[in-house]
Amino acid sequence: MKTIIAANWKMFKTRADAASYAVDLARGLEGGLPAGREVLLFPPYTALAVVAEAAGQTPGLAVGGQNVYPDAEGAFTGEISPAMLLDAGASWVLAGHSERRHIFHEDPAFVARKAAFALEQGLNVMLCVGETLSEREAGRLEAVLEAQLAPVCAALPPSLGGEALARRLAVAYEPVWAIGTGKVAGPPEVQEAHAVTRALLQRALGDAALQLPVLYGGSVKPANAATLLGLDNVNGLLVGGASLEAQSFLQIVFC
Ligand code: PEP
Repeated sequence: MKTIIAANWKMFKTRADAASYAVDLARGLEGGLPAGREVLLFPPYTALAVVAEAAGQTPGLAVGGQNVYPDAEGAFTGEISPAMLLDAGASWVLAGHSERRHIFHEDPAFVARKAAFALEQGLNVMLCVGETLSEREAGRLEAVLEAQLAPVCAALPPSLGGEALARRLAVAYEPVWAIGTGKVAGPPEVQEAHAVTRALLQRALGDAALQLPVLYGGSVKPANAATLLGLDNVNGLLVGGASLEAQSFLQIVFC
């Protein structure tokens, strides 16, 4: 199974900042990546083209959008279509990041429409799922993950089977209480949630789910990256804050 190390820049960086980061990152990746490892960058829309240009010259590096609207075009002020992301050089997109679910009130059905439409239109999708602290404390981890995963699994294009599914879809388990808070989930909590995620995916998708990368995200740093990556069913890391400096992200990429 491949390992994906992904950077979510959120609403940070101008085009100039992004260009200088891309140069530093490309330099850091010159010697190649460890076998089976892939690096994804999710910059803001305005920096997509700049970063995609650098990625085009760096094996193992690809670029994605942080969000997408599930329609080809139309009167959707402020939104962006899959074709626009592809046109800017993106090959991936995030769907259902907790900031989209909680700040912008995106519900699981809407996230599923986004994921399915983006896949149909040729983007690869990283689906983010995760529970809040109160949901975890109420013992609702599995119910919350199922409510977020099931609509996406049900909406997947039927043509997307086995090997293609594993290439084009990844899931990021990101406990909301660990995102941007400095509170990293401990190994037992991460293992439990990843095992639940894998089991839910398998129930919905059959054995094709065994090859789907499931990433962990939430206060990942150079100091904890290797431990997290060593856990069962952790097939990559989605990094926010610690991805904003190229050197710190490179330490995670090579952990
Ligand atoms: C994220 O934005 O997906 C994330 C995990 O952020 P942080 O690493 O800052 O917690």
